[in-house]
Amino acid sequence: MAETKTDTKTGTKTETKTEKMGFEAEVSRLLHMMVHSVYSDREIFLRELVSNASDACDKLRYETQTDAGLKTDGDDFGVAIAVDADAKTITVSDNGIGMSRDDLIANLGTIARSGTSNFVDQLSGDGKKDVQLIGQFGVGFYSVFMVADNVSVTSRRAGEDTAHTWTSNGEGTFEVAEADKASQGTEITLHIKEDATEFLEQYRLQTIITTYSDHIEVPITLAIKATDDKEAEEAKVVNDGSAIWARPKSDITDEQYTEFYRHVGHAFDEPIHKLHYKAEGMQEYTVLLFVPTSKPMDLFDPARKNRVKLYVKKVFISDEGTDLLPGWLRFMRGVVDSQDLPLNMSREMLQNNPVVTRMSKAITKKILGDFEKMAKKDTEKFETIWSEFGGVIKEGIYEDFERREQILKLARFKSTAVEGWTTVADYVERMKDKQSAVYYITGTDEAALRKSPQLEGFKSRDIEVLLMADAVDDFWLQSVPDFEGKPFKSITRGASDLDDIAEAKDDGEKKEKATEGQMTTLITLMKEVLGEKVAEVRASDRLTETASCLVASDTGMDMAMERILKASNQLDHEAAKVLEINPGHAVIRKLAEKAGETGAIDALADPVWLILDQAKILEGDPLDDATAFARRMSSAMEKGLA
Ligand code: ADP
Repeated sequence: MAETKTDTKTGTKTETKTEKMGFEAEVSRLLHMMVHSVYSDREIFLRELVSNASDACDKLRYETQTDAGLKTDGDDFGVAIAVDADAKTITVSDNGIGMSRDDLIANLGTIARSGTSNFVDQLSGDGKKDVQLIGQFGVGFYSVFMVADNVSVTSRRAGEDTAHTWTSNGEGTFEVAEADKASQGTEITLHIKEDATEFLEQYRLQTIITTYSDHIEVPITLAIKATDDKEAEEAKVVNDGSAIWARPKSDITDEQYTEFYRHVGHAFDEPIHKLHYKAEGMQEYTVLLFVPTSKPMDLFDPARKNRVKLYVKKVFISDEGTDLLPGWLRFMRGVVDSQDLPLNMSREMLQNNPVVTRMSKAITKKILGDFEKMAKKDTEKFETIWSEFGGVIKEGIYEDFERREQILKLARFKSTAVEGWTTVADYVERMKDKQSAVYYITGTDEAALRKSPQLEGFKSRDIEVLLMADAVDDFWLQSVPDFEGKPFKSITRGASDLDDIAEAKDDGEKKEKATEGQMTTLITLMKEVLGEKVAEVRASDRLTETASCLVASDTGMDMAMERILKASNQLDHEAAKVLEINPGHAVIRKLAEKAGETGAIDALADPVWLILDQAKILEGDPLDDATAFARRMSSAMEKGLA
């Protein structure tokens, strides 16, 4: 479609094109949900728009400070909301950084924010469930389509001459055309749906702003042009606007903290914990940090960036690459406002900056201290935080050499001896007299770990084992040999000496066992049959119920670690495992009795392979030859049924 556009300086008219484009498929799904949503908190669209507008002002203020050549139309930043009740429109404008044509297409045509696509993947098509998801994740700009059936965004990027308008009704496509706009920034006009006219009322809008956006620092003005009064009402500033972190704690309500957390962290849940304090002395800065209740979407983003915003004397500097918190605290959200840094800090200057490093150290120390206090005084709350973020905090055990011990002491683990969480220190308290090591098993799922055959011998002797189900456990355990002199020992690796620690409980009757002589003969036979498929075959005190299990050899890599490396293609060769067999198991006893007979090696070959395959199945490992397994299994069943 062709339109004419007049150059404001020369008066020449040129033809410009309106381009029609399709939304990215994921955005279309999201918009479809927005357009047809029955979400009761539709008012959040305004919070999203105001939040974006204020971010845009922050970004421009920062750019003007670091790029002296950047031309702007004044730096009196602000957000203006204007309502035309007759035309049924709400317009939200800002004089922030603005968007170029490409920005408009990328930001408002695709899913820009990392993690939002996860959100879309979770959409089920079931209206009710999806609506709940909006509450949990929020969807930024696109939420305007809950209240508007047509939206236009006119924007001019600071420093650029041309403005563009993006328009859409949220149904599959949007249009972009060149536009006229006198000043930099963005103007968003919403044509309000028939069922959303409540949002044209002054009182309603005023309440929404006070609820969600009072803390926004740039002034927000509201002007209403009402039906009966043809004159536009004078724009009034409607937000408080003082930096919340600079206010005394007693002046801030819980709701205000929550709304600030949501704005600063792009979050939609409640914060479970906050840390608000001012450091004075050598360095002066204010900290307001939050722990989210649920995992932020980008928690496992490989970049592992922290999302804490750095301000200098209340001026926003950066929320990227600030090194304000170590990677293992990246789940925290909030702001740090320094009095000591210069205002014209460029992002590059922030890296390895000694002031930032000192601040980061002190803040990390404070957070750890705060967690330690909470772990003692409000154990339940700490354990809730640990359940969500323990897997991330534990990264600090191998990354943060200085704080390794402190973090390990704070760490909570599941165990075979207690319900809920325990610490390693408490484990050590409960250790048996003759026990010297802290036993653990690693894997990916606590419930599956509890069923591991390797645990049987420990359970029957009442020896406690820590169950470690986070991927990170295999890594830190590699670099931390012991806890206060007690070595960590994997129960799936190396020989065990359980009988030296305690005797097995025998449920009333002593279990019959194959004799040592019989076992030696059987083990020799098994080694001959299995050849290089096993590193060793040995009798086990790890097992009580199961016939066999696999463990890594003393010098080998722990099995869970091997699985992780294999899954990430970092291991091309797997070490042969030790096959442990249970002398008290009926099948092993039978095999041991027959192992000395002539021709035993041929007669017992099939059952011996089955014993190995069984152990593999229990480990969740693939079988080398599933067809052979099925054949042997069928033949064994046939004999059993005969
Ligand atoms: P989010 O704000 O969480 O990133 P949105 O969907 O709300 O997600 O916005 C997407 C992107 O569009 C923003 O990250 C920002 O880059 C851009 N944007 C939105 N509104 C504005 C605005 N008023 N000024 C400049 N850029 C904006």
